[in-house]
Amino acid sequence: MSSTVTTRFAPSPTGTLHVGNIRTALHNWLLAKQAGGRFLLRIDDTDVARSREEHVTAIRADLAWLGLHPEREERQSARFDIYEAAFHKLIAARRLYRCYESAQELDLKRKVLLGRGLPPIYDRSALALTEADHAAKAAAGEHPHWRFLLDRDAPITWVDGIRGSQHFDPAQMSDPVVRRADGSWLYMLPSVIDDIEMDVTDVLRGEDHVSNTATQVQMFTALDAPVPRFAHEALLTGAEGKLSKRLGSLGVTEMCANGIEPEALIALLARLGTSDPVDPALDAESLAARFDLTRFGRAPARFDDAELARVNAAVIHKLPYARAADRLPEGMGEAAWEVIRPNLNTVTEAAAWWRVVTGPVEAPEFDAETRAFLDQAAGVAAALDWAEDPWGALTAALKDSTGRKGKALFMPLRQALTGMDHGPDMKALLPLIGKDEAVRRLG
Ligand code: GLU
Repeated sequence: MSSTVTTRFAPSPTGTLHVGNIRTALHNWLLAKQAGGRFLLRIDDTDVARSREEHVTAIRADLAWLGLHPEREERQSARFDIYEAAFHKLIAARRLYRCYESAQELDLKRKVLLGRGLPPIYDRSALALTEADHAAKAAAGEHPHWRFLLDRDAPITWVDGIRGSQHFDPAQMSDPVVRRADGSWLYMLPSVIDDIEMDVTDVLRGEDHVSNTATQVQMFTALDAPVPRFAHEALLTGAEGKLSKRLGSLGVTEMCANGIEPEALIALLARLGTSDPVDPALDAESLAARFDLTRFGRAPARFDDAELARVNAAVIHKLPYARAADRLPEGMGEAAWEVIRPNLNTVTEAAAWWRVVTGPVEAPEFDAETRAFLDQAAGVAAALDWAEDPWGALTAALKDSTGRKGKALFMPLRQALTGMDHGPDMKALLPLIGKDEAVRRLG
């Protein structure tokens, strides 16, 4: 096994990525970055019938949006020759054997075993077939499917990067089918062949793959390859603690539509499943430096939209102008961005605040006394040197001349100038509104 840490994200392009897959991709990227290693994208499209090119395109686009750039991309559908060679090697080593049972027959066998209180393990009856039996099947037009022969005398163990010490008894496992009668591959063996050939050192994936790993550990050995490090992450659940349907479809498209920044999603997912606080970092490299698999627990990790929204706001409050510029309204420059940014939950909301700057704004109806105060304010504003701190100068002068202070001083001014009761810091906002417009709004 190569010494360069190499991870891979291996989605099947049978759908778009959901937040669970995105977390797996991110964690593989972080693991590789942290070690100065390589992160690969492997499109698992051996299932030609269910794989769609549009999903491959969407997966690439999603990773690009997240900034998770793979060093190399591979597709299983382009690697059938490699699988064929390994297949023959395993046949020669007597680790693969031909079977003919139909799905119904297998189902019946399982039911009989379960009915007798036994584990539903394949009985290996096909191992007893002779070459003459196979020839007779072939003559009758029957094609075999192939199973991998587990070594029942070799206990399966590995130290999982998240789950710790793992033990499986191969005598309690069925020999897995690796290739169907029509010649097509199941996921299990091609994945091992690829992990070997691509020098993958670390396989990090969901805990739904733990039992596959048990089988795959023996496949690595059967192919004379070292077994990579494995780690299996607890699955994601919704905020209500249940596996939710919604999470299974929540992906980059919906996140984008909701104004979620990739940095926010990355910051949250980098820590989701640990008890460490989320760090709304703008650069994923800094998250990589502190990424630690041992911090991840075995309990399901809760994904909470409200938490994502909070992280998103925290990210936006630090987001440099350059990362928002092409989504801001015409004319809104860096100074305005910095004034408005602390008020935003999403970048889109900047437009409404920019309208407060450019006007027109609709102020509430004021009582006569407040109206008189505002007229006075307009006069003071018109006479001010606008270059310095007009808000400081305006409020100081009005405080002196009217005796108003606190809310009675500030609120009518804010309302007249912005049409709102809250919003960006007036000291920063007023210079953006400009003198003439401010005088007009006050008067
Ligand atoms: N294509 C498999 C999946 O999406 C890959 C599993 C793995 O990482 O090996 O579940």
